[in-house]
Amino acid sequence: SREIRLVTRPVGEPKHSDFEMAEVPVPEPGEGQVVVRNDWMSVDPYMRGRMNDVKSYVPPFRLGEAMEGGAVGTVVASRSEKAPVGTVVLHGLGWREHALLDGDRARVIDTTRVSPQAYLGALGMPGLTAYAGLTEVAPVREGDVVFVSGAAGAVGGIAGQIAKKLGASRVIGSAGGPAKTAKVVDAFGFDAAIDYREGDLEGQLAKAAPDGVDVYFDNVGGAHLRAAIAALNTHGRVALCGAISQYNATGPVPGPDNLALAIGKRLTLRGFIVGDHAHLAGKYFTKAAEWLANGDLYTEETVVEGIDNAVDAFLGLLNGANTGKMLVRL
Ligand code: NDP
Repeated sequence: SREIRLVTRPVGEPKHSDFEMAEVPVPEPGEGQVVVRNDWMSVDPYMRGRMNDVKSYVPPFRLGEAMEGGAVGTVVASRSEKAPVGTVVLHGLGWREHALLDGDRARVIDTTRVSPQAYLGALGMPGLTAYAGLTEVAPVREGDVVFVSGAAGAVGGIAGQIAKKLGASRVIGSAGGPAKTAKVVDAFGFDAAIDYREGDLEGQLAKAAPDGVDVYFDNVGGAHLRAAIAALNTHGRVALCGAISQYNATGPVPGPDNLALAIGKRLTLRGFIVGDHAHLAGKYFTKAAEWLANGDLYTEETVVEGIDNAVDAFLGLLNGANTGKMLVRL
């Protein structure tokens, strides 16, 4: 069985040589444990942070050990009543073909109405992030204008649609390149889209949001946050979800140089981590399962085949190779 380990801590953009593939025996379950053959694994931007040796809300990956992350698989050996052989489960030991874990760390998932891999996207952590951000962190109210960056991605594509469901009057998204911006409008249903690679974010946003912005869902940071601060209306709210434009930075990055506008505009800028909003999971997953089953939530997946290509999937994610959720099929 194969697993992917981090062997050096990347400086700047990660390289193939920062990772290695290792061959290990297929594990045997101990009392209360299960062995899962992973069918799908997730690659997510937060994993870049775990590659650094810094204190954060999740501990760093350990060098020379298999990395971790969301995965869905099938139980192939079990000494746990909670998950007999054949059960499809969601768990946290991705980046490997076989996972050994305690039965109570494997969540049995219902795949009768939705695909197993949906639990890594809309019906999982990314979907809940979008929902928490727009209901609790920067709540959308009826009639609001909402701006979402990273709008063609896993979180952003869902955030735009949830903003509409919460009563937003106009939803604007940004993404990289004409193909993605077209999709943000035509497939993900945003009212307008901005191609940030064209530059002049501030001018483009002013044009797309002539009445200003009430809520900004920030996946990108940097110049996007600056442009949003310029466009926000009085009492505007920002959910600081991610800052992917700076995850590979090797030194300090400049903050938005117009932050003083937040005073006169009485802005609220609030960072959040989805794990702190786990109390919303039951409510959100029930709604999302229904939306998916009824075709009321558009989702897309970019699927990379095989554990051999998992590192490429991760590197591609950081460079925008994905539309919707980036996944590896093992
Ligand atoms: P995405 O599916 O959005 O994939 C990442 C995308 O980032 C790429 O597709 C690319 O799209 C975009 N990107 C990369 N570099 C840049 C750049 N320099 N400027 C603008 N866009 C860039 O990933 P997720 O949906 O999983 O995550 C989105 C954000 O949400 C991330 O910042 C992540 O860290 C954050 N997050 C935060 C959570 C929390 O609890 N706070 C939980 C989950 C995610 P493009 O082609 O458009 O450039």
